[in-house]
This record gives sequence, structure tokens and C-alpha cells, in this order.
Amino acid sequence: MITGKTKVYGLIGHPVEHSFSPQLHYMLATSLAVDMVYTTFDVEKSALKASIEGIKALNISGVNVTVPHKVAVMKYLDAIDIAAMRIGAVNTIVREGNVLTGYNTDYLGLKMALDYEKIFLKDEDILIIGAGGAARAVAVMCGYANVRKITVVNRTIEKAEELVKTIKEYFDIETEVIIMEELVELENMGIVFQTTSLGMFPNIKNNPLKDNIDYSKMKVAVDLIFNPIETEFLAKARKAGVKTMNGLGMLYYQGVKAFELWHGIIPEKSVLDKNFQLFINDRQ
Ligand code: NAP
Repeated sequence: MITGKTKVYGLIGHPVEHSFSPQLHYMLATSLAVDMVYTTFDVEKSALKASIEGIKALNISGVNVTVPHKVAVMKYLDAIDIAAMRIGAVNTIVREGNVLTGYNTDYLGLKMALDYEKIFLKDEDILIIGAGGAARAVAVMCGYANVRKITVVNRTIEKAEELVKTIKEYFDIETEVIIMEELVELENMGIVFQTTSLGMFPNIKNNPLKDNIDYSKMKVAVDLIFNPIETEFLAKARKAGVKTMNGLGMLYYQGVKAFELWHGIIPEKSVLDKNFQLFINDRQ
């Protein structure tokens, strides 16, 4: 029941009406009897600063941040967590009194989703397809997980080089950069993270990899896209006998991590697993 004491949380982005986050936080809050509401705030770029000031003015307890504000929001915050700083993007804001702190739970959520699927990264060779915001979260996650090597392949080579520079700055990991059109084989690529928007609804036939690539050469294929739940890239990997994972787990667990930061509650595994199954079932 909503009362005068119910705490308010939400999502700042543009557009926001198709977000799964309200449902996700409602599920967790109901399971764990947390007195909160979570709604969406459709914020244009020109209104971002005012919306962040509004968090303090309206005593909003915390917000998630999504496209297109994850980078731009950083300059309006009072403090930024070190991993979020390394990634260069914030997706969760915690308010403590008058102090707003920015975190990135995308990389933590992806790690939890991989753990759930028993996909372990230590000493593995990693290929990251793409070099945008999501790729940066993957790279920093891989850095913290002590992988052996990270190869970044991207259409725009400068962005891949910039990402590799960040990896080198913070982690002692071997790196390589490949321009997209020169990726002709996946031998020794190990775990492959597809982080571009190619294949996302409605352009579901798109795939960053060439038609003649041998998918069976990779160990695991991960696609951060969650709509559709199986992209062309994942379907081809599955048909080649490769273990696959879509972006639903990352989406779910980034929300779980935001929930933990806001409420100081670490839900039991049984609660998380049960809600994850409900969350997945709703989208199949
Ligand atoms: P972004 O910063 O805009 O980066 C987009 C990436 O896709 C860049 O590497 C870009 O290459 C590449 N790309 C786009 N169009 C391309 C094309 N036609 N040909 C070749 N490459 C192309 O976006 P983002 O925030 O990283 O998001 C990327 C994807 O991850 C989206 O599908 C998003 O839904 C997903 N995501 C999922 C989760 C989750 O919770 N599961 C979280 C975050 C993001 P250039 O650098 O050459 O432009």
C-alpha cells in the first residue's frame, strides 16, 4: 500500500515507456516487503540538469539512468564510484542526504548473469564486438575478472583504440584491436561478447559477423541485446553447438544491484532466482 512514507525511485531516460525496470523493481520490492514506488521520468537532453537537481528538491530516493543520459549525467553528480568512472558511464544514482553518488551496475549485473550461467572469465581470451557504452562496461568487468586477453573489434577503429587505452590504463591485460571488416575468423577468441545494436528489434536480421565465419570456434557467445531474446548472432552460435547467453540476465541483475545499493538489502539467491524465472517467462 502506498502511504506518505513510501519512498520514490525511478528511471531517467528518453524514451522510457518501453522500459522493463518498473516491473523489475516492483517484483523485488513485493518479494522483500520494501515500501517503495518506481516510475519512469521521460527527460529530454535539455532538461537533464534540472531533473538531477529535482532529485534533491523532491527528496527522490534514487534513480536509474538510461539512454541517452548515462555519460552526460556524470557532470551533475557530487561523487562517482571508481568503476563507473573507469567505464565512463553512470546508470544508478543513490541519494544520501544532499549527496548524489553515481554507480554503474551494468557491469556488475552482467557479471552476476554470467555467474548464474556458470560462465567464468578468469584467464579466458575475450572478444568484444563493439566499442560503445555497453562494450566499456564489458571491458571493465573483464578487467576486474582477470581475463588473459581482450580483443576489441569495431566499425570505427578510433573508438576501439580508445577502449583498449582505458583497459591498459587500469588493468595489466594483453589487448588487440581489429577493424570490423577484417574479422574473418574466431579462432582463439574464447568468450565473445556482442555489444553492438546490430540485430536489435526491429532490424532482427542484422549481424555484425560475416556470413562465412565459423561460429564453432568460440567457447561461449554472449549478446547484450534482449529484444529479440535470440539474435541472429546467438542463433548461429547455438546451431554451431556453442553455449549462448542473451542480455536478459544483465538487464535483470543490473536492477538487482541498483536495488541493493538503494535499500542496503542483499536478496537471498532463492528470491533472486525465482524472480529471474518470472522475469524471463514474461518475455518468452
Ligand atoms: P552505443 O554506445 O551507441 O554503441 C553502439 C555500438 O554499436 C558501437 O560499437 C557502434 O559502432 C556499433 N554499431 C552501431 N550500428 C552499427 C552498424 N550499422 N555497423 C557496425 N557497428 C554498428 O550503444 P550501447 O549503449 O553500447 O548499446 C549497445 C547495445 O547493448 C544495445 O543493443 C543495447 O540494447 C545493449 N545493452 C544491453 C544492456 C542489458 O542490460 N542487456 C545494457 C546496455 C546496453 P561505431 O563505434 O562504429 O559507431
